[in-house]
Amino acid sequence: MESKQTTNTAPAAGAKAPMLRIRDLEVYYGAIHALKGLSLDVNEGEIVTLIGANGAGKSTTLRTISGLLAPKSGSIEFEGTSIAGCGAHDIVRAGLSQVPEGRRIFADMTVLENLELGAFIRSDRDGIARDMDMVFTRFPRLKERLSQQAGTLSGGEQQMLAMGRALMSRPRLLLLDEPSMGLAPLLIKEIFSIIVDINRAGTTILLVEQNANMALSIAHRAYVLETGRITLSGAASTLAASEDVRRAYLGG
Ligand code: ATP
Repeated sequence: MESKQTTNTAPAAGAKAPMLRIRDLEVYYGAIHALKGLSLDVNEGEIVTLIGANGAGKSTTLRTISGLLAPKSGSIEFEGTSIAGCGAHDIVRAGLSQVPEGRRIFADMTVLENLELGAFIRSDRDGIARDMDMVFTRFPRLKERLSQQAGTLSGGEQQMLAMGRALMSRPRLLLLDEPSMGLAPLLIKEIFSIIVDINRAGTTILLVEQNANMALSIAHRAYVLETGRITLSGAASTLAASEDVRRAYLGG
């Protein structure tokens, strides 16, 4: 993709602490051990991607960060404050918002109502109006469909709405779960270039993807997750060039 960014190097000595710092995270679904001591960092300003096969634990990681699942043990710090086990609404209030897998828009509500819901934590009406305009600039198609029932939008439009809704909480860290899922290649390109724009405008991004090619092409750094464990990490360009990663995740 032409929007490839320069490789992000490790933070220099004395650099700021990571924006998101996860250590030794253990998550279970009943007897199923989904995350087995997962640790990762996201630095302010980065796009970090977490790639891995079906069932590796990518969605579980995001759902635990955003407060939808409680970890059994381990720590999650966002901007220096522990958020492990906090409620999902409090985590949005802290500045962290998730675009869930499968979009999860409110199908019976209009596009406008969905966007307004995204701002539920806010009361600054002028700021909300400005951010609504920002969403319309990024996603002009949403503006044309404001009074349309969200459930009747195309898959790509629903992804845009889910992203727009998350942006309405003005997050400093945006978690994206498989934004390419079910979309045609041209639309995937469009969505990924919007992700880069959102990042360049100042929002840090943690991106979960099965489409490792696309994810590595826009990310600064990447982690590979296999059955609940991080098995590789590094600059996205290094992972994209790695023989093992190419064979396992990039189709040769
Ligand atoms: P995919 O790309 O297929 O969504 P993933 O990497 O996001 O995969 P997760 O959805 O996080 O993987 O699943 C990790 C593991 O936890 C899998 O073994 C899965 O079967 C299991 N799991 C996920 N959700 C549940 C649940 N609600 N109840 C029981 N097990 C679950």
